[in-house]
Parts: sequence; structure tokens; C-alpha cells
Amino acid sequence: MRHSWGSTYGTDHERVVRIAFMESSCSLWDTDQVRLLLVEDDNALAKVLLRGLREEGYAVDHSGTCASANELLDLNPYQLVILDLGLPDGDGLTLCASRRSGGMTTPVLMLTARDGVGSTVAGLDAGADDYLTKPFAYPELAARVRALLRRPPEAVSPVLQQGGIRLDAAAHSVWRDTPAGPVLVPLTPREFALLEHLMRRPGEVCRREDLLEQVWDTNYDGLSNVVDVHIANLRRKLDGDSNDADPIETVRGVGYRWLVLTEAT
Ligand code: CA
Repeated sequence: MRHSWGSTYGTDHERVVRIAFMESSCSLWDTDQVRLLLVEDDNALAKVLLRGLREEGYAVDHSGTCASANELLDLNPYQLVILDLGLPDGDGLTLCASRRSGGMTTPVLMLTARDGVGSTVAGLDAGADDYLTKPFAYPELAARVRALLRRPPEAVSPVLQQGGIRLDAAAHSVWRDTPAGPVLVPLTPREFALLEHLMRRPGEVCRREDLLEQVWDTNYDGLSNVVDVHIANLRRKLDGDSNDADPIETVRGVGYRWLVLTEAT
């Protein structure tokens, strides 16, 4: 079986293991190693990121085009994708959206050189979990990577049903009741984690700082806006075109609360 080290280093297994050992600070290439895919066509930047990430012990594959990124994603299970927006044969946004609609749940960290809220919102809409605007310092990227890889512990109860919203933690799916029957709500992994956090604490005020700490990372100074952007997306997706009351209440200056809504009869 071909594995992704082969795409970078050749297919000889011993050589691959030896190089993996030399290039990363961890012991030997093993199945426990966290595997990342870096999609970036700027070779100078890619080189810096690859070196840094491999020094931290991640197994990292690199691709400079949408086409080869798609091939690698088809071949290998990754725990995280770092995705540049502008690629020679396409757009990172389109790539992300198409992988999401194909069922990919791997967290995506988007790298963007484009300024402004527009591309950020577009990136999050396309299914990215977080974004970083170029230029950035490597430690900033490393912190985002750690945050995205930190998965919440397994849910106590796999299914939550409140106020016409059904969240299945095991299946990672959310359904919304409509007069025509339940409708699947497509959420990004981050939106899902945020919704699950709120739904597991009905009636409880979840402070922005706590959401950042639990759903994102404690080191996210000055980025509390990302919570509001995700809440806005969640509200839009959960509400659909219904006239139901918003289940997420804004607690001014503090955070958000999942309202305990009584089921319609
Ligand atoms: Ca680029």
C-alpha cells in the first residue's frame, strides 16, 4: 500500500522511516503520529512551515495544487488540513466546500492573503474551522494547529434533543425539525463543537472566554470575534426559514446561552 510519505520521499519503506526519523524529533514513524496535510503553493513559505511542523513531531504531507491535494485526501486520513486560498489550479474555498459536501470532517485551517471580513466569512462558510491571515508568525500557526487538534472528550450522552434541534454526537450530525420532517443541518466541525458545548449546558451562560478556551484555544488573545462569527453562522443554519424563537440567547457583554425551549405540541 502506498502511503503519503512516498509522495514526498519515494516509496522505499526503510528510507521513508529513516527520513521520518531524521526530520522529526519524535522516535519512529508510527500510527500514533498526527498526520497533517499542508496545501500551499508558495514553496518558500511551505518549506518553513514543513520544517516547523515536522520538528514538533507531526507527519506532514505537502501539496501545491488542488489536484494533488484531492489525491492525497482521497488516499490518506489526515487529522488536520492547512489550506491556502489561492492555488495555481483553483481556489482553496472551492476545494474545502467540495470536500465538506463529500463528507470530510477533518478540521481545516485556512491561510489567506486576502484582507477583509468577506474572505473570512466565505472561508468559514466553505467549511473552514479557523483562518490565519498572511503574513503570520510560525508560533501563531502552531498554536492554531494545536487548538484545532484538541478534540473535545467523548460525549457523555450521544444524542441531545432540545427545542426542535437533535444533535447526534456519535454520528456528528444535527437535525432540525420542520413541518415537513427533520432536516439535516450541515455544520462545520467547529460549529458542531460550539453547538454541542451550548446544548450540554442548557440555560447556563457560556462566557466568550470559556467558549474560546473549550472550543478554541486559551492562547487566542484578541480573537473573541471568531466566537461571534461562528454563533452568527450557527443561528443562520439552525433557523432555516422558520419563524421559531432563536434558541441561542446573547447575554450582552458576557456570552451566549442555549435556551431551554419547550417542544411545540
Ligand atoms: Ca497561494
